Parts: sequence; structure tokens; C-alpha cells
Amino acid sequence: MAAQKQRDSQQKTLGIIGGMSWESTESYYRLINEGIKDKLGGLHSADLLIHSVDFAPIGELQAEGAWAELGAMMASSGERLQAAGAQGLLIATNTMHKVIGDVEAATNLPIIHIADATAKEIEKQGLTKIALLGTQFTMTQDFYKQRLIDAGLQVLLPEDEARAEIHRIIYDELCKGQILDSSRQYYRQVITDLANEGAEGVILGCTEIGLLIKQTDSPIPVFDTTAIHAAAAVDFLLE
Ligand code: GLU
Repeated sequence: MAAQKQRDSQQKTLGIIGGMSWESTESYYRLINEGIKDKLGGLHSADLLIHSVDFAPIGELQAEGAWAELGAMMASSGERLQAAGAQGLLIATNTMHKVIGDVEAATNLPIIHIADATAKEIEKQGLTKIALLGTQFTMTQDFYKQRLIDAGLQVLLPEDEARAEIHRIIYDELCKGQILDSSRQYYRQVITDLANEGAEGVILGCTEIGLLIKQTDSPIPVFDTTAIHAAAAVDFLLE
């Protein structure tokens, strides 16, 4: 047992609260493992615990605005991961960072914040005017947008109608694994419009958007929160 621990000591153990949706948790799992393979080589892979939730009731509670209940669910997930040995946590969705405070209070574990990791990447590239795409919650509410503003960024959002369609595509298609060309075209147009309004880059601020939009779909740099968050997870594991 002790010998086993010694051999594992190159990495910490990270707990992932996932399943929101599992389509993007799958991306996280692959990206974090690829990151560890790149850094450590050989047969190395990531030391992860994943609690993958049933997204249907969560999606319903979000639509109802039942954030206290959602906070309790996320906190319980964090506690389960902590009990299983997680030394830090990652919430594998932008939207559910709305209740990160509940998870922090319940576990006292470090949590890798997706918006902070993203703001850092944008800062590295020296950009300040940034477009934000995500769920309606992420695009319009302070828990996310204000965090970017506090990091010194100016945030541009799509118009009302486009926001509603961006949101619909996330829940009706991307979270169900449907990747449609017509929706890709729609997102491309929205990004182009925001670039014309002065956006220097665009945050793919929903963990499924990277399944639809790649850098080649955008005239400005894309910041894929899933990839950025996964890279931050690799850093945490090797800290
Ligand atoms: N995965 C998405 C996000 O990053 C949306 C699903 C959710 O509401 O958690 O916000």
C-alpha cells in the first residue's frame, strides 16, 4: 500500500463533477489524459475520480431557477468525491459555477474555476475585448460575466434573439450529442457579427460548444473553456 502510494506520488487526485453533459465530460476525460501523457510520457494517465450525474433533473432545475437545490446537489457530489480521495475539484460545466460557493463551503477543497482559467489565457494573449457564448445563465448573469470583467476584460454578448438560439442549440442539440452543420453555420455567423462589433476573441463558454466550433470556424481567436479547463486540471495534478 505504502509502496503503491509512493509510486503514485507524481500526481494529486482530482475529482470531476461531470455529466453536464456527459458529451463534454468525455472531452475533459480525453484532454486531461492526453495532457498527462504529453507531460509524463510512457504509460502515464491522469489520476481522476469522476462523479457523472444524471443531467435531466439538473437541466429542469436550471430552467426553474432552483439554484439552492442545485447548489445542494453539487455540494453533495463534491463531498462524495472528497470522501473518495479527491484533493481538489473541477466542475465540468460553466453554468454550474453559479453554485461553486456551495461546493467550496461543503468540502473546503481547492476548485479550479473555469472563468479564472479562461481569463488567464486571454490575458496571456493580450486581448481585452472578448465575446462570450454560452447558456443564457452564463452569458447574462454576474457569477460568470462579472468575473471576467473583474479580470479586466470587456465582455460582448450576442443580441437577445441570438442568445436564445445559442442557448437552445446547447440544450436541444449539443448536450444530446447532435452536431448539426446548420447550427455550426449559425454560431459562425454570430461570432462574425461579434467580431465586426470589435470582439478580439470569443469565449466558447459552454463545455459542449467545442464539439461544434473549432478555430477554423472563427475569424478571431477562440477560447475553448473545456480545453483551457482541462489544461488547468493537468497543471493541478502535477503541482
Ligand atoms: N455544459 C454547459 C456549460 O458549460 C451547459 C450545461 C449545463 O448547464 O451545465 O455551461
